[in-house]
Amino acid sequence: MVKIVQKEAPVLRGKAQEVPVAEIQSSKIKKIIGRMKKALEEQEDGVAIAAPQVGENLRIFVISKRAFEIIDAETAPPAKSEKKYQDMVFINPKLLKTSKEKMEMEEGCLSVRYLYGKVKRAKKATVSAVDENGERILVGGSGLIAQIFQHEMDHLEGVLFTDKAHDLEEILPAKKI
Ligand code: ZN
Repeated sequence: MVKIVQKEAPVLRGKAQEVPVAEIQSSKIKKIIGRMKKALEEQEDGVAIAAPQVGENLRIFVISKRAFEIIDAETAPPAKSEKKYQDMVFINPKLLKTSKEKMEMEEGCLSVRYLYGKVKRAKKATVSAVDENGERILVGGSGLIAQIFQHEMDHLEGVLFTDKAHDLEEILPAKKI
């Protein structure tokens, strides 16, 4: 299993470094992205992960296809929901726009097991980045996607959701038999 570093780790508290353009498609970066995707696959509640969470001080985050499936399940009738989604990679992301309108959202983090709390997040957000193929991307989202953008951008600045959350409570995972 890919190790996900927990909240005491200094790498989660520093400002992550830009990936040099020449290295975006290097095997080093490909390997790191591969580890991030694997970590997301292994955590059944994981919807996104930032590079510092796998111990890498770099400005990269990945949104799991699971996040798109959750949104799909909420918006489309199950019978129509046959779309295949893929993990989405954001390298050197910039938060371009956030809506003035905010909402309280329930939040947790793979690096803050197992605390959950409420965080005020902008309802909509737009991010520009480079994907794993070196292409410029511009992605806007609302609800869960906007929340993920803000949570992951915070990770790249060394901020954890618990710095902003209220009504924190510990909810341990149900034991599997
Ligand atoms: Zn997190």
